[in-house]
Amino acid sequence: MGPSWSREGAEGVWPQDSRVPGGVARLSLGPSAQRPQVLAGDFPVLVVGDMIEWTAVVGIALSATPGEYSVRATGEGPARTLSYLVRDKKYTEQRLKVSPKTVDLSPEDNARYERERAHQQRIMELFTEPLPRPGDLHMRQPVPGRRSSSFGLRRVFNGQARNPHSGMDIAAPTGTDVVAPLPGRVVDVGDYFFNGGTVWLDHGGGLLSMYCHLSSVQCKNGDVLRTGDAFCKVGATGRVTGPHLHWGVMLNRSMVDPALFLST
Ligand SMILES: [Zn+2]
Repeated sequence: MGPSWSREGAEGVWPQDSRVPGGVARLSLGPSAQRPQVLAGDFPVLVVGDMIEWTAVVGIALSATPGEYSVRATGEGPARTLSYLVRDKKYTEQRLKVSPKTVDLSPEDNARYERERAHQQRIMELFTEPLPRPGDLHMRQPVPGRRSSSFGLRRVFNGQARNPHSGMDIAAPTGTDVVAPLPGRVVDVGDYFFNGGTVWLDHGGGLLSMYCHLSSVQCKNGDVLRTGDAFCKVGATGRVTGPHLHWGVMLNRSMVDPALFLST
């Protein structure tokens, strides 16, 4: 059994625990001299803490159906299964009108999109060291501005249902500096069909973040950023209705709600 007390209070813990599709489950692993290894299915899970108390920080896919899930922890002593319950969350529907070319793709655009999706898949599989420390999971908002609460919206483009909205949109004028919310390494810079000008940052341990619709980029693959370093600028490239930053946060290959990593 882990300790019944915690050095972190219920407040001041990032990411917040929110066991819904697109949320995060924080699972206590108790004390051990070595960091336990945790798998969700075949995917490694971020484990933070120290020998007094380790915590698995598990991203929950937006496509997860409500019910019981589990992860497997190995380390000192016998392997353990930790279960958690994902509650239902009703995300609202958003109807958007965009250029028909970006909904009914031409064969050329569709082939481009498929190539880009395969490329992005390889980025999403990254699980690198060093792992973030517990205090490193409190993110800074990457641009000032009004945060929409559009994470998880079920989107209907020109009457056709598409993937849910898997990030946070922050309203800001074209040219506004975007800063790193945490220390990280640039692992992809590209110009993509839907996402437009895009940068991915790797924060270690399967925690990645993405920045889309950029007007320009001031970084390249391999650059190492500190919190607050400016590395790209807000724009309106890709499939958008106006300038804003689309900010995505990924944990164990699941896009989760960036708001869980921010102060309210
Ligand atoms: Zn967006």
